[in-house]
Amino acid sequence: MELDKPAKPVLTYGTYPTLVLITGAGIWAALRGILSPGAAIGLLTGITIVVVFAVERINPLLDRWSMTKHSLVERDLPFIGLAVVVEQIATVGVSLVASAAVPKDGFGLLGRAPLVVQAVFALLALDLLWYAYHRAAHTFSRLWRVHGLHHSPSQLYVLMHQVFHPLDLLVSRFVISLVVFKLTGIGPAAAFIAIAVLGLQQTVSHVNSDLRTGWLNYVLIGTETHRYHHAAEKGGNFGSVVPVWDILFRTFVYEPRRIPDRMGLIDPASYPDPRRFHAALSWPFRRATA
Ligand SMILES: [Zn+2]
Ligand SMILES: [Zn+2]
Repeated sequence: MELDKPAKPVLTYGTYPTLVLITGAGIWAALRGILSPGAAIGLLTGITIVVVFAVERINPLLDRWSMTKHSLVERDLPFIGLAVVVEQIATVGVSLVASAAVPKDGFGLLGRAPLVVQAVFALLALDLLWYAYHRAAHTFSRLWRVHGLHHSPSQLYVLMHQVFHPLDLLVSRFVISLVVFKLTGIGPAAAFIAIAVLGLQQTVSHVNSDLRTGWLNYVLIGTETHRYHHAAEKGGNFGSVVPVWDILFRTFVYEPRRIPDRMGLIDPASYPDPRRFHAALSWPFRRATA
């Protein structure tokens, strides 16, 4: 399907810059000590979700990708609740492991680098590790049993970005976070900036609205590129913040005018219905039959 001129250009071109400004203000407030980092992340997450939720309602890209009462209650809410719990456990786990092993305020070469360099390094490193795991999860069947859950819905909307198997979340929120935020030497301020940017990009990536950012798609993963990752027809775009690794490893897909025809799995029968919460959670541990 081809995209035409935007029906609501103010929302199409204005939503993302507005969210960037809000995120920038939150980062500034935390770095100046006006808000604690935890409060800033909580506030930014809440504001970003409310804004994109409203934009999805006012200007959905495709009605058939929209959230319904059934998809929210029967599928998403249990996974959202689980994701919140797993993320909290992972965050505490990262702090506990790191407090026993490494200095709190950064160390080594990176610890002495300017804040911007540390933050950019963190985002590039996070996404390189996620790229490697994510591509492997799309390649090896046992890992696909974990990650396929994120692809099993045939829709694409903002709350869906929390529909993940907890093992996927442990890889990103525990293993990768521990390595990048605690073991590379970057300081807590750089880790905070990276987490704020990561939160914005991951939320925006799943919005069901005609948001366009032009050339910025070659710098940051967003709505226009992550939708190809959820297309049933074609893979690609394994990064979650920056497309540099996809560009480098030739998996980048960006076709500004085209919308994928079908979302979700090529063969939906190959994966448990995600509304069957326990079946989806236990799927990676089941014996393969073929
Ligand atoms: Zn994927
Ligand atoms: Zn996704």
